[in-house]
Amino acid sequence: MDLLQHYEVTCPHCWETVDLEFDLSVPGQSYFEDCPVCCKAMLVSYTVADGEIDEVGVEAAD
Ligand SMILES: [Zn+2]
Repeated sequence: MDLLQHYEVTCPHCWETVDLEFDLSVPGQSYFEDCPVCCKAMLVSYTVADGEIDEVGVEAAD
């Protein structure tokens, strides 16, 4: 069973589409991730329901 799932979000800094990888073995989490396009920090949060990504939020964090 693959517990990592790719998910596309929009960077709040440069508005580019960024491909993230979420761990579905946890009920959800928040963490800082640097945008691979503009290298600015963003706060990524997501929740998992029934083994699938439920809600995703991305905020500018600097
Ligand atoms: Zn960016």
